[in-house]
Amino acid sequence: AKKADLGPLVGAVDQGTSSTRFLVFNSRTAELLSHHQVEIKQEFPREGWVEQDPKEILQSVYECIEKTCEKLRELNIDISNIKAIGVSNQRETTVVWDKLTGEPLYNAVVWLDLRTQSTVENLSKRIPGNNNFVKSKTGLPLSTYFSAVKLRWILDNVRKVQKAVEEDRALFGTIDSWLIWSLTGGAKGGVHCTDVTNASRTMLFNIHSLEWDKELCDFFEIPMAILPNVRSSSEIYGLMKISHSLKAGALEGVPISGCLGDQSAALVGQMCFQDGQAKNTYGTGCFLLCNTGHKCVFSEHGLLTTVAYKLGRDKPVYYALEGSVAIAGAVIRWLRDNLGIISTSEEIEKLAKEVGTSYGCYFVPAFSGLYAPYWEPSARGIICGLTQFTNKCHIAFAALEAVCFQTREILDAMNRDCGIPLSHLQVDGGMTSNKILMQLQADILYIPVVKPSMPETTALGAAMAAGAADGVGVWSLEPEDLSAVTMERFEPQINAEESEIRYSTWKKAVMKSMGWVT
Ligand code: ADP
Repeated sequence: AKKADLGPLVGAVDQGTSSTRFLVFNSRTAELLSHHQVEIKQEFPREGWVEQDPKEILQSVYECIEKTCEKLRELNIDISNIKAIGVSNQRETTVVWDKLTGEPLYNAVVWLDLRTQSTVENLSKRIPGNNNFVKSKTGLPLSTYFSAVKLRWILDNVRKVQKAVEEDRALFGTIDSWLIWSLTGGAKGGVHCTDVTNASRTMLFNIHSLEWDKELCDFFEIPMAILPNVRSSSEIYGLMKISHSLKAGALEGVPISGCLGDQSAALVGQMCFQDGQAKNTYGTGCFLLCNTGHKCVFSEHGLLTTVAYKLGRDKPVYYALEGSVAIAGAVIRWLRDNLGIISTSEEIEKLAKEVGTSYGCYFVPAFSGLYAPYWEPSARGIICGLTQFTNKCHIAFAALEAVCFQTREILDAMNRDCGIPLSHLQVDGGMTSNKILMQLQADILYIPVVKPSMPETTALGAAMAAGAADGVGVWSLEPEDLSAVTMERFEPQINAEESEIRYSTWKKAVMKSMGWVT
């Protein structure tokens, strides 16, 4: 059969907390041609600890590339049309590996992990000068969430890592660095780099100078020699060089030319390029980012300041205000894996639909403390308002409602910081396929919720960055390039008063979740 002529294609690796995907887009229309997805394991070796195996993550990337290429062949699409590859990734998750053997020296410590609580307490006692030392340079509060404290913990506790650092064999990276280094040759010449968006989540990066910050590295006692080179989010970092893999070798020699932390990638994929444009992504956690243009805006209401993107070496940097919620889809996974009341995440919709209300039950999933706007490490999850009448359907409904209330809290904070309230909310992420959730969200925010027909915005953003890079030039980042993407709208259906009552009861429940651990 004749091979379809689609013009240049771009691939994207989307390495999330729940799963890994590889997706291939047509750069002329943003049409998703094929993809493959693999769920990845999360290990909870102790209470509060969350780890993943960096090798399993890498293998899942190979597998997704291989399977997607097979599917493309079946569709008669020529793989040699793939002109570039972008990477987007779960942010902050910390990996240390041996540059001579290519082997990880410890499991990846996942962003949700809480083991560094005492590390954070000790460090906060020694903050030099005023309390603003870390925040003013990084835009971040000193918290277990960010990489610097996870790396500090690993350096303090893992003998193999200490030895490798002494022998100049250790490399540190977030998942993007680990993947790009491995995919560009690993121990045989892999490129050790990261992009400004991922760097801005380490708490070692100065978001004004866009460089690793010597004073921060001294404060956290991190040897600068193990840090990756910081590059823009759109430039050729290196070429695919997969020495040992099977058919992923089909992409040998293709440039890796885009790299964005997942939330930045979604912002780009939703084309939020103007000051004041925002998107909310519902994955494992939930992250609302609002583009603030070239200005670094500091929040008065518990939001983070972060690098949004820098699409080219000579292009200007854009910043964002971010509201981060630790647990969103993770609560659905918890109902599946820990309580067993559903066997797939999709089933939650059926349970919730059966009752259509939580019947006064509220679920605050503060499994990892509370992030924005509270930043309260002492909080833990609670389910309250139970009666003899409550059943698993009400709990399922309350779990979905919790995701919406948490979004309302960060949207309120965003509106207060920005001054101009958002007129609608652009959304994406794995959970947005849930129609009940989307309608509830519109009801609780009392503004329309707008969802693209193609939910893979994170991967699309990484593909756009890769395709637009100097030396690749197959994507112009103009709205016409997204002709394959249409929008679905959810309008608020309950009245504002009812929505306010529910929201204020939620806040009461949040107060009860605080102070469980001291
Ligand atoms: P990540 O990027 O963090 O890996 P995804 O965007 O892939 O996350 O979304 C996966 C999360 O969404 C999982 O936590 C899963 O439980 C949740 N999820 C997936 N489908 C649904 C659904 N239909 N309803 C509710 N939650 C869902």
